[in-house]
Amino acid sequence: MTSGGTAFVYVTVRVLAALAIGAAIGWFAGNVWLGVSGAFALYLAWNLWQLRELGFWLQHRSVADPPNAAGLWGDVVAQVVRLHRRKRFHKERLTRLFRELRRSTAAMPDGVVMLDPQGEIVWFNRKAAELLDLSRRADLGLRIDNLVRNPDFVRYLHGGQYSLPVVVRLDTPVERFVAFQVISYGEDQRLLMLRDVTREVRLEQMRKDFVANASHELRSPLTVVAGYLETFSSDPGLGELMAPIAEMRRQTDRMTRIIEDLLELSRFEANDGPIRGLPIDVAGMAALLRKDVLARTAHPRQVEVAIESGDALIGDEAMVQSAFSNLVDNAAKYTPAEGSVFIRWWTDDDGGHYSVRDTGPGIPEEHIPRLTERFYRVDPGRSRETGGSGLGLAIVKHALHRHGGRLQIESIEGRGSTFTCHFPPDRVLYRPAAASA
Ligand code: ADP
Repeated sequence: MTSGGTAFVYVTVRVLAALAIGAAIGWFAGNVWLGVSGAFALYLAWNLWQLRELGFWLQHRSVADPPNAAGLWGDVVAQVVRLHRRKRFHKERLTRLFRELRRSTAAMPDGVVMLDPQGEIVWFNRKAAELLDLSRRADLGLRIDNLVRNPDFVRYLHGGQYSLPVVVRLDTPVERFVAFQVISYGEDQRLLMLRDVTREVRLEQMRKDFVANASHELRSPLTVVAGYLETFSSDPGLGELMAPIAEMRRQTDRMTRIIEDLLELSRFEANDGPIRGLPIDVAGMAALLRKDVLARTAHPRQVEVAIESGDALIGDEAMVQSAFSNLVDNAAKYTPAEGSVFIRWWTDDDGGHYSVRDTGPGIPEEHIPRLTERFYRVDPGRSRETGGSGLGLAIVKHALHRHGGRLQIESIEGRGSTFTCHFPPDRVLYRPAAASA
């Protein structure tokens, strides 16, 4: 039997005993029922007294001691004391945990903002308050896109693609660059992580400026040297100096190409804003590139163009031309005279695709992920021989990135390579089927 059950038996026995005593007294007094009623009345009065004591204690629990009750009332008091102790223990534990959590998030070097499904601020830590100039009283409950109105941030927040952070320039209270990254959790809840990347952005800008300035400064003296070398090379009186002068001309040509490519890359990088969206005639561009390849003294035997779509590409013509010509140039450069190059343009629901396939030497698999790094070459000797700057694919990658596109490289060693530029659907001017037929 449970302790509650035992107490109930005791109480019943005690009530019955009190009634029996009441009945006995009544019997002696000549009225049994009067004795029983008196016993009931006394028992009821005692219970009401206990109830009053309990009520008073529950109201003043923090200052008053628990009543010294017996029987069932004692059990009730003991239960209440136990529940109260357990509640206090859990409350203290939760408070301690919350305090620790607050202290640790305050010490975090990154900002954290908790958002509800509507994008309203539920909570933020000290670093987030510092980066966004938030105040606990005024900004809790406000929508984050009302506070950070930068269009890139708003697009990122509503875009739902959170795998990469977005870097945003904030002007309040001082100019700062902040990387925002959303982490989704629970049901539509979002955690916004913020990191101050001002130093990294400024260093990157300094690097870009340095490369652009250095390339620009080197261009003029190099033009002078190249000019003199050209004059010398047409002077037949130089005799045995002709060979070294020819080599010096080759090297200055290479340097000029590297500087031109560095300047081109800097130009693409200098402006990160939206690019001009004009329709580009891909067919015309591909035909011209083919003609350029065939005009070279040494070129692959077959250069074919397959334009499978009349849809135009929307973008910056100079940038796209640079990307496409670098790919065609590489294919022509690395493919032997008996090989072939195929240029193809097609569109589908995934967007526009421009590929350059060759039957050249191919690229070993381990080099493919690094090909678009600046100055990365599979075979440095061969690349120099062909006059490569090592910047061509970096230019392609950057030009595509600016158009929201990406470069795909497939290659089988000894069989050839395919470089495909993938552009998103919003970069394609889809023409009605009848018009393109
Ligand atoms: P480079 O000016 O040296 O050609 P790129 O950035 O254009 O520089 O290319 C990087 C490297 O990728 C090249 O050095 C070359 O080794 C390799 N590569 C590029 N295109 C091809 C191709 N079509 N076939 C074989 N290798 C290629």
